[in-house]
Amino acid sequence: MSIQPIRLFGDPVLTTPAELVVNFDKELRTLVEDLTQTMHDAPGAGLAAPQIGVSLQVFVWDIEEGDGHLINPTLDLSEDLQDGEEGCLSFPGLVYETPRAFRAVAKGFNMHGEPVTIEGTELLARVLQHETDHLKGIVFIDRLLAAERKIAMADIRNSDWFGQAQDLGNTPIVKFSPHATNGRAI
Ligand code: ZN
Repeated sequence: MSIQPIRLFGDPVLTTPAELVVNFDKELRTLVEDLTQTMHDAPGAGLAAPQIGVSLQVFVWDIEEGDGHLINPTLDLSEDLQDGEEGCLSFPGLVYETPRAFRAVAKGFNMHGEPVTIEGTELLARVLQHETDHLKGIVFIDRLLAAERKIAMADIRNSDWFGQAQDLGNTPIVKFSPHATNGRAI
């Protein structure tokens, strides 16, 4: 188990759709452990594999309502929306009002390859949407209303971390064969 560097916005791995997991093996379990440990170290409320440079459909979360991990997720969303602020560990220090569906039902698999369904409203629904987006190469600023997104882009250009993304290497890694968040970012 090890804490991994978190990739920052600007790193192409964050805007690349992740591969489906096909091997539910020891390497996958190590990835889930690494994600969990890195999320807790940050600390964050959620973390997706591309954020540590692994382009596979895996994410973890840990919020008051509970914690978990999910692999190869698909989402069903309510039409009702929720308001709330959202941040991301790949955008240090930046938080924006981000519209999301109020309720989400995520279907996928656990690390043992067993099917699981996670249902959540409010914060859990927000986390499930944010992390599933990461697996599609979508980042939360893509979900902002136009005016807010303009502000976000200016903030990013002015941030002290922007431009450092390339330092960690910019090639998405597929480790396996392809075959508002309580003040914490996700
Ligand atoms: Zn994020």
